[in-house]
Amino acid sequence: MPRARQSDQSHTSLRRNLLRWFRLSHRDLPWRRRTSDAYAQLVAEIMLQQTQAATVAPYYERFMKRYPTVQHLADAPRDDVLALWAGLGYYRRAHALHDAAALVCRDLNGELPDTVEGLLALPGIGRYTAGAIASIAFGRRAPILDGNVARVLARLFELHGQPDAPAMTKRLWRLAEEILPARDCGSFNQALMELGATVCTPQTPRCSACPVARQCESLRQGVVDEIPPPRRRASVKPLELTACVVTAGSSILLRRRPDDGLWSGMWEIPSVERNGDEQAGDVIGSLPKSIARTLNEPRRLGIVHHQLTHRSVRIDVWSAEGSRVRLPRDYRWMRRSGELPIPRAFLKAERLFDQRCTP
Ligand code: SF4
Repeated sequence: MPRARQSDQSHTSLRRNLLRWFRLSHRDLPWRRRTSDAYAQLVAEIMLQQTQAATVAPYYERFMKRYPTVQHLADAPRDDVLALWAGLGYYRRAHALHDAAALVCRDLNGELPDTVEGLLALPGIGRYTAGAIASIAFGRRAPILDGNVARVLARLFELHGQPDAPAMTKRLWRLAEEILPARDCGSFNQALMELGATVCTPQTPRCSACPVARQCESLRQGVVDEIPPPRRRASVKPLELTACVVTAGSSILLRRRPDDGLWSGMWEIPSVERNGDEQAGDVIGSLPKSIARTLNEPRRLGIVHHQLTHRSVRIDVWSAEGSRVRLPRDYRWMRRSGELPIPRAFLKAERLFDQRCTP
């Protein structure tokens, strides 16, 4: 049989088997109950970047309850959005999602664009996210390619080499488009994602339960374990901080972090990065004089550790007591109630303070 016809037939079987399997056995994830709601898909896809579905689900449900429409999100204060995001990590996504909602309401009459090109113009949306929203919410024939889908396609078509190498990425995008069905592209794309998340997993793919095993070239050739090739792990860098829990009565002092860099725009227990022997005095030196001059002698409380994907955080925690003076911008007194978005690393420091200093 000519090669082109063989490949057409194989694509047809692949589509049919994958769609049937997805219809019968997909996980009931909350965003799948609102596939025609482009805003719901936007929220889900941004949350799902770098994060697994099981982790995202409760955050997504809370978020959609608080901000059921793009207008609700656009109208929300940034701190509230970040507070709801706290714990999900990669906070730049929350900033971008909030900015995208504001832009949609200001310039696009509250309607999300229904094309890949239009979606790409929104903050925080790359080719994958645009393809996912355009295909799932608007039925566009738009391909998707993320780490999961790249692995599935590389195995199905026995493509050796690192999936994120530029030439390979280009080839995979072409394939992702080529195998799309004429209709029901949203379901097909979701099926590819689902296969990568539940069957064709990175370490031990369950080929015996795979709906497209008969179309899988790597399985036929016995090279599943070789695709994709192993890669060197990105190194985890240490981050050493000294932080000082500054209290005034039952309130503690928080400081807003800069809009770029780690924990951007969130609220921290005032801290400095340790490059040498920085102690509480250096943290106090970084505070406005109006606060610093009221503080008593700082006391050392201990060390807390927190693990991020690429950073291993270690915080040397101190405390000092002062007076509740008027604060400049980017500083707040908080009554330890979680009303502001605080990274988990600093919540651990606050917990240490509670253990050591509250009766
Ligand atoms: Fe992945 Fe195995 Fe299915 Fe091939 S047969 S797509 S390697 S799970």
